[in-house]
Amino acid sequence: MARLSRRGVLRGAVLLGGAAAALSGSAPALAAVEQVSIASCGAWGARPPSGALTIDQHRPNKIIVHHTAMANSTDYSQAHAFQNSRDIQNLHMDTNGWVDSGQHFTNSRGGWLTEGRNGSLYALLHGQTMVQGAHCVGQNDQAIGIENEGTYLTEQPPAALWNSLVAFCAFTCQQYAIPATEIYGHKDFNSTQCPGLLHDRLPELRAAVAARL
Ligand SMILES: [Zn+2]
Repeated sequence: MARLSRRGVLRGAVLLGGAAAALSGSAPALAAVEQVSIASCGAWGARPPSGALTIDQHRPNKIIVHHTAMANSTDYSQAHAFQNSRDIQNLHMDTNGWVDSGQHFTNSRGGWLTEGRNGSLYALLHGQTMVQGAHCVGQNDQAIGIENEGTYLTEQPPAALWNSLVAFCAFTCQQYAIPATEIYGHKDFNSTQCPGLLHDRLPELRAAVAARL
């Protein structure tokens, strides 16, 4: 606790995770990568899971990038990002029949990051465990899944989305000691077009993340 920085204390969402990390002695007190702001499930009004979630007692070894294949909204507000998170969770729970959002985190076209599956933010800030996801067959107990709002088959994502994706990946790589080379796209593992043009930019993403680590 004593090593918790004032900077950390001043950031609302950071406090719990930062305190947990300091207590466990697992995360660096003076992180090289800036903490990203991620709105918790509580902040955007997530529903509780409909059943038990599995907590894997190990670190993930990679990040998998997705696009939501939903509309390319021009509403870049945080309110819209929160609504998008609720829409995804409702789809995953009510249509897919899953216990919660499938992905661990969500990134909006306005660059707002939110927690997806309940518990993912705590696990990320703690840096030792992961909540088992439902975003990529065969990788759900190995990979952190980040859903990027929109469809990028013919259109590039907005700069705000790209910038927050870079920041998110850099922080996540740091927290879990994932090499920047271990950032993939959904189509690397499953038969899908996801994440579209974002997949072509994975080398650029890995390089941008590596530069921050
Ligand atoms: Zn995907």
